[in-house]
Amino acid sequence: MSLVPMSELLVRARRSGYAVGAFEVWNLESIQAVIGAAEGLAQPVILQVGPGEADYAGMEDIAHAAIFHARRAKVPVVLHLDHGDTFERVMQCLNHGFTSVMLDVSHLPYAENVAATKEVARVAHACGVSVEGEMDRIGGGATGIDVPDDAHLTNPDQAVEFVRATGIDAFAVAIGTVHGFYQGEPHIRLGLLEKIAARVPIPLVLHGGSGTPEADVRKAVSLGIAKVNICTEFVAAFADTYAHEHAASDFRYNVPGVFLKPRAAARQLAEKKIRLFAGL
Ligand SMILES: [Zn+2]
Repeated sequence: MSLVPMSELLVRARRSGYAVGAFEVWNLESIQAVIGAAEGLAQPVILQVGPGEADYAGMEDIAHAAIFHARRAKVPVVLHLDHGDTFERVMQCLNHGFTSVMLDVSHLPYAENVAATKEVARVAHACGVSVEGEMDRIGGGATGIDVPDDAHLTNPDQAVEFVRATGIDAFAVAIGTVHGFYQGEPHIRLGLLEKIAARVPIPLVLHGGSGTPEADVRKAVSLGIAKVNICTEFVAAFADTYAHEHAASDFRYNVPGVFLKPRAAARQLAEKKIRLFAGL
């Protein structure tokens, strides 16, 4: 169906009570796995590239590959910059045809985050590109916040002000999910999400979807989450299957023998998540 901006897709999703899956891609196989899964279920999907994937694959290389496959897809596909680290990175994405961007400067003081995000929204919107914003530091990964406490969670009043001041199209909530796999039991604050959703009318984004209990994800989607990010679980589906196949192949290297099953496993994982987010 082609490459589309993110905002209309997510507005429709929030209004209709489903969420669109956003999966990290870094090579041809991962792009094919995600688009194949979405086409098989006739659902829209988001391909995401973060700084790590961009530096690994090359920003221009991964953008061209993703856009080539998105344009041929039978379903709407978004190409999104996940956790953009610099203004320059955002500009590169606009130049290479991304249809959505995020600048993550949530480590900066609030006022600086607002100013930088607002500037990104101004420039991206002029190019017809959607913008996701993050106000709080969502835990996990390199943040040093492994188990988010209340101080790291989204304040609904401040969220209203952040969304209004920046002009973003989608807002990433901090409700206790973490990036990567959880260390200990996940504690997702669905009550807090309900309060945020009651005040913030734009589509909400759940980061740290990997390993989050399915019942919590379903409830979060029913409360207003319109995009769920899946990175770790998707990469793991590919990498773990690869490791297994590689060892089982007796180290006889042939491409289909080593890579067919990892790609199929990644596609299966994406299918499972898309079903969950869409309520299929
Ligand atoms: Zn994230």
